[in-house]
Amino acid sequence: MSTPTADLKSALQGDIPRINVRNHLKILGAFTDLIESISKHDGWTREEFFQRSTYRLQLWVEKVINVGDEGQQPLQARELPPLDVAMALHSLMLSPARYFEDSELRFRQLKRMEEYPLAMVVDALGTDNSKYSRLENHPAPEHWRIHTGLQYDAIDSMQNDTTRSVTCPACQEAVLVSWRGDRGFSAADFHHTCPKCRIALTHDVLRAGKFFASLNRAREDPKLCLPNTAILLRGELGVTSRCSNIVNEVWKCFESENGKLTRLEDIAALSATERCSIMEYIAKTLSSPQSILIPENVPLLLRAFEHSYPFTQDIVDALRHQYQFMQIIHDEGWSQSTSKPSDDDLDAAYAEYAEFLQRIAIQVSSGCCDLYPVFSRSPPARRVHPPKRYTNVVWEGPFVREALRVAQIPES
Ligand SMILES: [Zn+2]
Repeated sequence: MSTPTADLKSALQGDIPRINVRNHLKILGAFTDLIESISKHDGWTREEFFQRSTYRLQLWVEKVINVGDEGQQPLQARELPPLDVAMALHSLMLSPARYFEDSELRFRQLKRMEEYPLAMVVDALGTDNSKYSRLENHPAPEHWRIHTGLQYDAIDSMQNDTTRSVTCPACQEAVLVSWRGDRGFSAADFHHTCPKCRIALTHDVLRAGKFFASLNRAREDPKLCLPNTAILLRGELGVTSRCSNIVNEVWKCFESENGKLTRLEDIAALSATERCSIMEYIAKTLSSPQSILIPENVPLLLRAFEHSYPFTQDIVDALRHQYQFMQIIHDEGWSQSTSKPSDDDLDAAYAEYAEFLQRIAIQVSSGCCDLYPVFSRSPPARRVHPPKRYTNVVWEGPFVREALRVAQIPES
């Protein structure tokens, strides 16, 4: 039997204190203010800002928190993410399945955070909501600059950091490219010639490069899998063998006569002959009659390569969506005033969220595959996180268990 909604509500109130909900709304307000401050500068676009924030999140994950001597220690004060990185991190964590896969397989350093570093971010926010104002004598800005070479503050970085680094997928040369200008990195028609191997770097080439690099890594290490295949793709086989089978099948589609992968330059030439992008060529090859992959699964398999960042989730797109949602919260006054939410508002939100969890739990216990994801200790209000509906997805792992735990339904 499931727990009555009233009991569930009081359990939630114990589990997720009001202060956490208020703090969560406070940082959403700070993110909104930060994004809106971008439009006050001539020539700055939100799109470029989201691209930059995603790149800076990548640097934070790869260069700031990926430090050997910390082991699995929780985040340290000097690792406080810049505010725009905190915003992108929030978007990264909003897709539980993809975040779970990334933190298990690709970026294990993400596991140093048990949950979103809410208290750390809120502590650094003072009265000026669009930036951290409590950073005097704080170790984070210096630590960030040493490890990334970039400005810590998001606005200072927009102003002063004019280039980003791109690794050429053909020769591995680190190439500095401009953010702005006609064909800067954030433009859809981004185009830059690699100074070493002369390949034309475009978003299409970078995406294809990311695809082949992932394929190579997954082929070499049986513990790795291609993005989205550990959790999201359904199959008859167990997860581990299913993942390596997928890797082998994908590999066969692009294997050359010497047993290695066909060179990226050669695949670029083939796609040019067929007058399609390299990613379209890859999709066509994976769906060809010679491939035993299920054609309907190919778009899902390739989804993680439709953007040129190393995360499984498309963070730039997630930021666009998150911004729309944050604007609603902001316009309703939830994230910008000290009087809202009142205790009564919060009480209603807890009740609403308890009902929502109850519905998930009933679906889980009846074996229905049509589920909502939940994230461990997420805020108790749909006003804070609108539930996103995932249809026909089998959910495994901690998210379903969390729903069962919160609703006190034993796992079958
Ligand atoms: Zn090159």
